[in-house]
Amino acid sequence: MAGITPVDRWDPVHASVAYWTWFSRVSEIWWTRSAGRAAIDAASRSRFDALVQFARARSPFYRDAYEGLPARRLAPAELPVATKAALMARFDDWVTVPEVTLAAVESFLADRKQIGERLLGRFVIWKSSGSTGEPGIYVQDSDSLSTFDALMAAHLDPMRFAAQCSWPLFVHGGRAALVAATGDHFASIASWRRLCQSSPWMAAHGFSIMDPLPRLVAALNAYRPVFLASYPTMLALLAEERKAGRLKIDPVSLWSGGECLAPGTRAEIEGAFGCRVVNEYGASECMSIAFGCREGWLHVNADWVMLEPVDDDYRPTPAGEPSRTVLLTNLANRVQPIIRYDLGDSVVVKPEPCACGSPLPAIQVEGRHDDVVAMAAPDGHLVRLLPLALTTIVEEAGRVHRFQIVQTAADQLMLRLDRGDPGDRQATWRAAAGALRRYLTQQSLPNVRVGLDERSPVADRRSGKLREVVVHKKAQPMHP
Ligand SMILES: [Zn+2]
Repeated sequence: MAGITPVDRWDPVHASVAYWTWFSRVSEIWWTRSAGRAAIDAASRSRFDALVQFARARSPFYRDAYEGLPARRLAPAELPVATKAALMARFDDWVTVPEVTLAAVESFLADRKQIGERLLGRFVIWKSSGSTGEPGIYVQDSDSLSTFDALMAAHLDPMRFAAQCSWPLFVHGGRAALVAATGDHFASIASWRRLCQSSPWMAAHGFSIMDPLPRLVAALNAYRPVFLASYPTMLALLAEERKAGRLKIDPVSLWSGGECLAPGTRAEIEGAFGCRVVNEYGASECMSIAFGCREGWLHVNADWVMLEPVDDDYRPTPAGEPSRTVLLTNLANRVQPIIRYDLGDSVVVKPEPCACGSPLPAIQVEGRHDDVVAMAAPDGHLVRLLPLALTTIVEEAGRVHRFQIVQTAADQLMLRLDRGDPGDRQATWRAAAGALRRYLTQQSLPNVRVGLDERSPVADRRSGKLREVVVHKKAQPMHP
């Protein structure tokens, strides 16, 4: 089938060890959470203390950053904040396994054939995509991956999940489809993909977001998945295809991750497919930060993840108010400790308990909001393009991380690049424009013009964040 690549590599020895770690983690998560908020906070605090102690002993970066602090048990607020720039600048000192160097990791990432493989046979590596402007490289070991897989499994509620899914699984052979940026080492939907890998009864295939929508729809129709996982923008596009009758699949469960899922978008997707969307909030720095509940809130995996909403000066933001950023501590990953890390998202903590009954803290996230781009084809019909597909093309071809794509007319896209060395800028522009034109032609948009905007990328005035895809002038549907 066109556009399909297998994502399941089955290694029985590795899988059985991983399975037992996973199984014990699932039980442990279940017991902790059943015991309520006090047990969750106690688990988080003891994991935090152990992680800080480990990082001070094994990571030269943290040893230096915490130098001068007392050796006793420290409250989170006593520790300095870590930024991506500071950590990436001292990558080899940050990581606690000496063989995992930036040079080794970069040569591993440069090889596309290694996607899904492990560095030194042990470590899963991914890099951050698009949204942040600065590249980040993240390292996980099996232990940390087992924890995140277990968090996902605990959320899915195995008993209810099995009952709901057993008949369609039996009929359709349990096929799962992942529509993602499949061509590179990205984390965005890693936990979902790994859940499929740890369930040998389930077949999983990856579909690329780069494929033209009609081809993707045809491939999904042929595959008939029972589970469908993707980014919310992609699910919204597929929901419209389902409503129009072109997409004919009947999944029993949808999974959304990698970007923020707005309540309206969620309702549209659920309406079109007639099934529930599982919403996961994650980041490259921490695969699974929170899961959505039926009340529309995200519940933080607080036994394994610490989130501190803060203002510009890193002072705590009170519950009920939007924070300027949020400090993330990933309690599961010791290879590359993430402690009080400035994640950049704005969150609001729900002051009162959630009506769904979850003992986990409830938040809402103001995350990425790239616009879906609708462009007019030569015959006048609209072709919608995924922001993530456009940004991936520019990043990969232009080898650039700070840029902005602006739709200025129904058939025009302008690219904004940072000023810098004029020679580099020209080379970046030529490579990015060439790749964008090839992509547009594949999407039946050979008429779309791609131009270089003399201006540098402009951050959003309100949030201060850089939106990489901006629509200034929309294409209107043609009325006969
Ligand atoms: Zn809830």
